Formats: sequence, C-alpha cells, structure tokens
Amino acid sequence: MDIYTLTLTPARTRFAPSPTGHLHLGGARTALYAYLLAKQTGGKFILRIEDTDVKRTVPGAEQEIMDGLRWLGLEYDEGPDVGGPCGPYRQTERRDLYNVHASRLVQSGHAYPCFCTPERLTQMREAQQARKEAPRYDGLCRKLTPEDAAKRIAAGERHVIRFKMPHEGATVARDHIRGDISVENKNFDDAVVLKSDGLPTYHLAAMVDDHEMQITHVLRSSEWLGTFPLHVNIVRAFGWDEPIWAHLSVFLKPSGKGKMSKREAAEAIKDGHSIFVKDLLELGFTPEGVNNWCGLMGWGVPEDDVMNMDQMIQRFSIDSLTPSPAAINFAKLDHFNGTHIRLLPTADLVARIKPFFTRAGLSASDEMLTQIVPLLRERMVTLDDALELAGFFFRESVSPNAQDLIAKGLDAPRSAEIARRVYQILVGQPALSQASAEPALRAYVEESGLNVNQVFGILRVAVTGQKISPPLFESMEIIGREKILARLDAAVNALSKIV
Ligand code: GLU
Repeated sequence: MDIYTLTLTPARTRFAPSPTGHLHLGGARTALYAYLLAKQTGGKFILRIEDTDVKRTVPGAEQEIMDGLRWLGLEYDEGPDVGGPCGPYRQTERRDLYNVHASRLVQSGHAYPCFCTPERLTQMREAQQARKEAPRYDGLCRKLTPEDAAKRIAAGERHVIRFKMPHEGATVARDHIRGDISVENKNFDDAVVLKSDGLPTYHLAAMVDDHEMQITHVLRSSEWLGTFPLHVNIVRAFGWDEPIWAHLSVFLKPSGKGKMSKREAAEAIKDGHSIFVKDLLELGFTPEGVNNWCGLMGWGVPEDDVMNMDQMIQRFSIDSLTPSPAAINFAKLDHFNGTHIRLLPTADLVARIKPFFTRAGLSASDEMLTQIVPLLRERMVTLDDALELAGFFFRESVSPNAQDLIAKGLDAPRSAEIARRVYQILVGQPALSQASAEPALRAYVEESGLNVNQVFGILRVAVTGQKISPPLFESMEIIGREKILARLDAAVNALSKIV
C-alpha cells in the first residue's frame, strides 16, 4: 500500500441488504465502494443482513447475496456465515438489543409508546387526505403521560414505539457527497421504530447496529435521503458519534429517464444483459468486468480506465463520488468485460469457459481448451461466447445450414464440386497441418480462378458448421484430420442434395 493509504484511519464499512430479492447492480456497487474504502484504509468490510421486515423476506435471497458478493470478489471480513466480534450479523437475531435501545429512547423522553389501532390510523389518514394534508401520525399518544402509558402496557395493550421528532427548528445533517442538508423539523412524522411484534424498523435497527458494529462510514443508496434527518436525530438522541454518511447516486435505465422497471429488466435479459448479479454470472460476464463497469458509474472522475480490484482499491476516493444519477450503459459493460477477458491468463480463462462447455454436454479437455483460447480471446465479449465460437471443436459432427455451404456467386453443384476437390487435396496429406493445407489450397484457388473467400468459405462452413469462426487453418489443426475429412464429406453430401 502507498503512503496515501497509510495516512487514513482504518474504516469499518458495511453492506446491509435486506434479503427481499435478487442482488442487483445498485447493491453490488454499494458493496464495492464499501469494500474498496475498507481495504484502502486497512479496515474491515462487514455484511449485515437486515431481515426485520419478515413478511418481505424471500427464501434463498440471503444466500444469493452472499454468493454474489463472493463471486464479485467482495469477501467480507465479518458476516452471518463468517462470524466476527460484533455478531450476530442477522438483525432478527439481535432483537433483544433493539428492545433495550427502544426502552432507552422512551426513558430519555425521545420516544413513546403508541397504542393507536390500525383502524384508527386508517381513519386518521383518510381524514387527512380529505383535507388535502400529507398523511402523518397526528401525535395522539405523544401526549400521554408516562404513567398512563405504563398502565396500558402493564394491561397488555398492543403498542408500537414511535420516535419523538423535534417539532421546532431544523435538522442539519451532513452527507459526504452533498454537504450539509437542512430540513425543517415540522415536516417530520413520528416514525415507528419498534413494531408491535417487537421487531425494529430499519430506522432503529440500522442506527443501533451501525453504532454497535463501530461503523465509521455508512455508504447507502440515496433512497434513504428522505429519512436521513430522522436517522441523524435517532443517533443524536442516543448521544452517539455520527458516522460519515454518503448517499450514493441511483442508477437510471439506459435511456436516462427513470429507474429500471421490471419490464425493462426483462428486455435487457433478451439482449444478453441484466441488472441482477446472478444473471450477469450466467450470461458470461466476469466479476472484473462487472466491478470495473459499475464501479465507474458514480465514481465521479472522468476515467474510463480498465482497472482490476487492486487498482480500484488504490484509486478509489470517497471524496470524489458524485450525486448525479448514472444511466446504465450495457455497451460499456460489454467493453469492460471483453477487455478483462483479454487480460486473463490462459489457464484462468480456460477454467472460466469450461463450465459453459460442460453445461452444453460437451467434454472439453483443459489441454484442448488451452490450444483454442488464443484463437478466441480477441473475439469474446462474454465467457459464453466461447461455446458459440468454439463448440464445433468438441462436437462429433457439425450440422451447418446447407445454404451456408453454397459459395457466394456460385450454385450448389459448383460448390459441391469445390468441396469434393478440397477433400481430395486434404485427403492426400497424411499429416494435415496448417503448413501443408494452406499452401495447397491457395494453389488450388489460383489455378481454379475462384477467389479465396469462395473456397475457404465452403471449407469453413463445412468444418466448423458456422460462417464466422476462429482462424480456419489453426482451428483445423486442432480439430484433426479425421474429423475434418468426415465433415467435408458430409458437406459434399449435403450440397449434392440441394436441387
Ligand atoms: N436494508 C437496507 C436496504 O436494503 C440497507 C440500507 C443501508 O445500507 O443502510 O435498502
């Protein structure tokens, strides 16, 4: 690490997702920035699962988050499945702690029990709406004396705990990206911090945990800006030091107009892209490409540099993050992914493309993939391109579209004749290699008056089954004589059948 890093105090950062759905780009970038800051300062990166909204918890979502972070290379130092000194790291396992803290707020006069029934609250809201007022709690239970409240609690009356927001003045809260934000207190509601089931809301749980887990920097979505003053008031009510808060810009759909909707997410998939980490993995994107791409959205300095994780750790700066929303640009993702694929050492790339062959039922040996990778690398955007470009190496036979075997400007019988001739030339070569095949076929092109594209085009489609392929003669050398001859023979037959 450089001198810059050594001068920073070790940060404790956290990624605190709710397990309510797939890990998406917004989450991945928040986690990345938190990770970069922790690593840059020699600190710790923590995963905390915020699962107190039990009704919204999706089975499997927590595991998907953990798998996604690991795939991205964002290994957390503390978390539900790795433990750590501030555990447990799942909020539903920390409920006693929140109860204690809610009581503390009540005792210090910063919160109060509220006994209003859901029916009363609904009526209240409807009346407010009819009067064209913003719906908010009207403060009925705020006026109860502590003695009355205690009696009702003792009688077993169902209640929640609400935070008592100040009514006068303004709350000034500092966001590291936007500077001081000042909001008049009279606009605030007395938010519920502890629900009647004894579980906290985000407002209490996250503040308690960030304090207990000694989080120094809270990096979270700018969707929390609206309740930021409430959170700051809660932290101040406890008398705790505030962390540095940074509310990260949101991602907009590719057009730049609004956030991605379900429909657009589904459209993106059709096009081979996605905003969900697990899809990106399946679509053949690399963690390096995804991190580089989403890291630079909101990074705040106009750099389009290709960076690996170490370089991002060196260069990241929480001071340059930008508040402006970033439109998702999938073309850039393709660019970064292709670039990172080209940077991978051959053995690494072999290991990463192999599963795509295996899943397609093709047994691709490391040895053969190692030979093939140099032919593919330049042409790949995603890892699964390898299967599309090079599946023919491993198939017993190929089944080209017969029409593709017909050379440009020629008909089927003439193309069949050429294929037959090519077969004869190659069958005469006991050791069919690039060095022997290419000059012989070029000589045939010369003497026949045909052009290279016509002859090599037929050969390419016959041998690879596709019109676009890695370099032909290098590929043939890997495929081997026997398969090449069999495929040419099949091509002659297919062409002969075209009338
Ligand atoms: N659980 C919150 C969410 O998923 C996290 C917010 C935070 O990072 O504090 O939106």
